Amino acid sequence: MKALVTGGAGFIGSHLVESLLDRGDEVWVIDDLSTGRFENIAHLESHPKFHYTIDTILDERVVADATSKSDVVFHLAAAVGVAYIIDNPLKSLETNIKGTEIVLQHANEGKKMVVIFSTSEIYGKANSQPCKETDDRILGTTTISRWGYSSSKAIDEFLALAYHREKKLPVVIVRCFNTCGTRQTGQYGMVIPRFVKQALLDHPLTVYGDGKQTRCFCDVSDVVRGVLGLVEEPAANGEVFNLGSDEETSIEELAERIKELTASVSSVDYIPYDKAYEQGFEDMRRRVPDLTKIRTTIGYEPQVSLQELLERVVAHFKR
Ligand code: UDP
Repeated sequence: MKALVTGGAGFIGSHLVESLLDRGDEVWVIDDLSTGRFENIAHLESHPKFHYTIDTILDERVVADATSKSDVVFHLAAAVGVAYIIDNPLKSLETNIKGTEIVLQHANEGKKMVVIFSTSEIYGKANSQPCKETDDRILGTTTISRWGYSSSKAIDEFLALAYHREKKLPVVIVRCFNTCGTRQTGQYGMVIPRFVKQALLDHPLTVYGDGKQTRCFCDVSDVVRGVLGLVEEPAANGEVFNLGSDEETSIEELAERIKELTASVSSVDYIPYDKAYEQGFEDMRRRVPDLTKIRTTIGYEPQVSLQELLERVVAHFKR
């Protein structure tokens, strides 16, 4: 297959690109290196089936050219990371909404399948867990940037579903829960690379809030496998899927596990959310995906345990 991966120099994108090339596909990447890094794809530069353009998806000509050459578009170019979104609210909304509109519009010209990488942030601060694809979204006030991000990704989903219904564009929407693995940077807020780096340097581990909030972390290899499985399943067309792991951990436990794995003498510091992010910041107490739909559709099962994922990330940072 010929694939366009927007955001292909990012953490998830670059792993997806590698998997596509490994199975013999031809790949085009568009990435403006805003949160992605060239070093994530530098090792692929000489691959005969790998092509890239360092540019923004807001440039229609760039998107039109790349979509016309591809059979399927994996749309990952987006603002990502709670810290990044709070620091760059305008750019985040513009990239996520306008960028997705442009990608869908050009993919529609050739009726190329689009895989929209959405997010568990869609669910907002929903209390009932695990989250099911059909659950209500519960969001806070517009003065909190996090909810703007959540809404922008919801608009992306609405747009994709509208193109599917009105224009018969093949689309698949995946709501990724916390994804982690090698190449992820802690720069934009993600907790695992931040804790691992802090632990290896024997700096204090910065637990936000009381640390009792929980998340489920999924290795990027499981996410890539899930996405590739969905693209090949006709029943996935026009559907929304949760994708991630359902192994739950509290952030406090995570800090302790990482300290143990790295034999670190770091302290664990508790930092109020207001200081860590912005005034009035709201966090989810629990976030667990209901994976029933993807399990029954493609037989997906996460294969990398949290322990193994942490071992991989620690080894990566040590290197
Ligand atoms: N977190 C933390 N310390 C950090 C970074 C994040 O305690 O240095 C917390 C964050 O408040 C959240 C959880 O870890 O409760 C996961 O954060 P991340 O940004 O990785 O993903 P989120 O689930 O918030 O999108």
